[in-house]
Amino acid sequence: MAAEYTARPMTLVDIGANLTHPSFRDDLEDVIRRAQGAGVETILVTGTTVEESRRAADLAAAHPETLRATAGVHPHHARECDAATIPALRALAALPRVVALGECGLDFNRNYSPHPDQEKWFTAQIELACELQIPLFLHSRDAHPRFAEVLRAHRARLPRAVAHCFTGERAELRACLDLDLYIGITGWICDERRGRHLLELVREIPRERLLIETDSPYLTPRDLHPQPRARRNEPAFLPHILRAVARALGRPAEEVGEDTARNARELFSLS
Ligand SMILES: [Zn+2]
Repeated sequence: MAAEYTARPMTLVDIGANLTHPSFRDDLEDVIRRAQGAGVETILVTGTTVEESRRAADLAAAHPETLRATAGVHPHHARECDAATIPALRALAALPRVVALGECGLDFNRNYSPHPDQEKWFTAQIELACELQIPLFLHSRDAHPRFAEVLRAHRARLPRAVAHCFTGERAELRACLDLDLYIGITGWICDERRGRHLLELVREIPRERLLIETDSPYLTPRDLHPQPRARRNEPAFLPHILRAVARALGRPAEEVGEDTARNARELFSLS
């Protein structure tokens, strides 16, 4: 039976925005206001180091109506982790507006940290999330199939989790869905050079697993005209990504938007 959708204004959730990035320092209030004006109800501020995660949590506390935060260490920064890292993340995870652990994962594209460091601290963060039963915000780039193998080893206790900024091929998507992961789609899908495969793959994501995100200030949709100043991406562009996803699915944007927002609320227990 078809679900019924009403024509009220969209209330979207941007599940990944790096609002602690210096490019937002001078006009964050305007950025948040524009997002609200565009129908983005909630924005998850991504934590990428302990320090950035603290700042993300501070931002969420300062904007409780719109912002939530994640706390974690990105694989790029795995080499900077030490004995204080997990206790610090544990403390951050206890804060009311921190809704997930991450981003964490594997990145074999840039290799800013050695692979053994990446795996060690990815595993440590998974274990913490298993213990706390807090959702995971996952990053994987050119790391298939190792990424899924590491997760599979924790399958029995794995909390709900999202493969954020999914850019992989079919085999990687299948592996993520087999792990029951949610899938985050960014403006990568708007990139006619490297995102074309996503136009087809996105059809294979179950409706109840699809999420959308900007990954601001990165990954500005290439087909956005005019391009923003300094090509900075921001949460107000989420509807543009939504429309690209909806076109690929052959479904109304309002419907897809409602699905993704409902999925985000469920995954992160957003009130
Ligand atoms: Zn990422």
